[in-house]
Amino acid sequence: MLDHHNPRGGFRNPWPGATLNAELGGLLRWWFVDRLRNPPPPDPDLSVFPIVGSRYLVPRASEDVVTLTWIGHATFLIQVGGLNLLTDPIWSDRATPLRLVGPKRRIKPAVRFEDLPPIDLVLQSHDHYDHLDDLTVCRLEATNPGAHWIVPLGLTPFLRRRGVHEITELDWWQETTVGPLTIGCTPAQHFSGRTPWTRNRTLWCGWSIRTASRRVFFAGDTGYHPVFADIAVRFGPFDVALLPIGAYDPRWFMKPVHMDPEEAVQAVRDLAGIGGGGGGAPRFIPMHWGTFKLTDEPLDEPPQRARSAWLAAGLPLEQYCQLAHGETLVIS
Ligand code: ZN
Ligand code: ZN
Repeated sequence: MLDHHNPRGGFRNPWPGATLNAELGGLLRWWFVDRLRNPPPPDPDLSVFPIVGSRYLVPRASEDVVTLTWIGHATFLIQVGGLNLLTDPIWSDRATPLRLVGPKRRIKPAVRFEDLPPIDLVLQSHDHYDHLDDLTVCRLEATNPGAHWIVPLGLTPFLRRRGVHEITELDWWQETTVGPLTIGCTPAQHFSGRTPWTRNRTLWCGWSIRTASRRVFFAGDTGYHPVFADIAVRFGPFDVALLPIGAYDPRWFMKPVHMDPEEAVQAVRDLAGIGGGGGGAPRFIPMHWGTFKLTDEPLDEPPQRARSAWLAAGLPLEQYCQLAHGETLVIS
């Protein structure tokens, strides 16, 4: 049986071709051979990324309204079931353990930390620096000490050391309830580790968020994998799917761990059961782009390719919900 628990400890992707191989050698080839031979294309002027006013409801939305506000990268403020929820919160300037080097934030958080409404719930997908941010965890704990963190296996010690009390750890396919919400932990194809010696010691995942009437899917950080359809069967059908579309070039190195835009559109089709007799596509909100410069594609390329792939697949344009930084999608 395919198992994501590594018998030697830690975790692994249980599908063939899903492992990042020759990591150090690959990194060196990428940085010192590829980039010298083919310098990456330039990024656009950052003015192409406007920060727009948000429309989340303060302090909370009513139980029958869902709002999704893109704060940047994989950070969303989601109001669902009358609760306020954050995904992968990062308000820091760099996604790195180091103060002065490492991926710098190009677009500031679209909602100021001080302006956040009270936070009831935080969903964490994995421990990479662009998703799990030390300083943000501490700030959230100081301002929202009652917030309930739901995390994949192995992340409790990190949060406990920073004073977080209310933590639920889940394995893939497990569920928990928080008030009117049922939160399900979904498989993802990725890896983890904040240092070279803690590789894959903690799990990575996506999340399904369900109320009696609404279903949201947050895919986390993931390569394209074979179980999106299974996720929809188990936890769907989804009204809206938040899927990563950025950090994909060079493909030979990134493919196992990050979808490209075309794969993300295929994942939406899988979630919708298209080709398998399923219903219509969920609304698609692209994420994990336009915030931190992690890889070689220009910062504005992912949504251009996602939109083209969406239209080429014959999917309805009104279901393609690309948000500007700060923009809110309201489903009522
Ligand atoms: Zn990651
Ligand atoms: Zn990431």
